[in-house]
Amino acid sequence: MTTAYIGIGANLGDARANVLDAIERLRRAPGCTLEAASSLYHTAPIDSSGGDYINAVARIGTALDAQSLLEALQAIEQAHGRERPYRNAPRTLDLDVLLYGEEQIATATLTVPHPRMTERAFVLAPLLEIAPGVHVPGHGPAAAFLPLVQDQPIAKLDT
Ligand code: ADP
Ligand code: MG
Repeated sequence: MTTAYIGIGANLGDARANVLDAIERLRRAPGCTLEAASSLYHTAPIDSSGGDYINAVARIGTALDAQSLLEALQAIEQAHGRERPYRNAPRTLDLDVLLYGEEQIATATLTVPHPRMTERAFVLAPLLEIAPGVHVPGHGPAAAFLPLVQDQPIAKLDT
């Protein structure tokens, strides 16, 4: 089993419901065990158009290799009717592999650690909630990057 962290985001439709449903689908995904899920966070869009985002991070244990995990995440996105009309379009559901064990991966379809994760409060805040000591291979402790994104407004939602 490999420990992986999944970034979850949505800003179309009932974004909160979509994020919660994604967490439930991760819980039931073949070859995956849901180990922890962060609170939900509300953020203004950064590189994207559309409404405000709901974000969360999940920790899973998985028997899937990284590419198979990506495909499982894409199947969950598809179940939410995600279309990709253009890059950074608004999305019903976006699932990203943030971390896959200690691995650094660079293939045509997968870059891990996720290349922008250390620059985004909407990744770092939920990630650090469930994994305060987590290390980003090639970068160092995730906590070291949080002070650098203090200018990005983010609010934890009441559960
Ligand atoms: P983004 O998440 O960057 O806004 P998409 O979700 O549309 O954009 O992803 C586009 C492509 O990014 C996917 O087809 C996938 O192959 C690739 N990709 C590369 N690295 C990752 C990763 N760590 N997690 C998810 N997708 C990734
Ligand atoms: Mg994505």
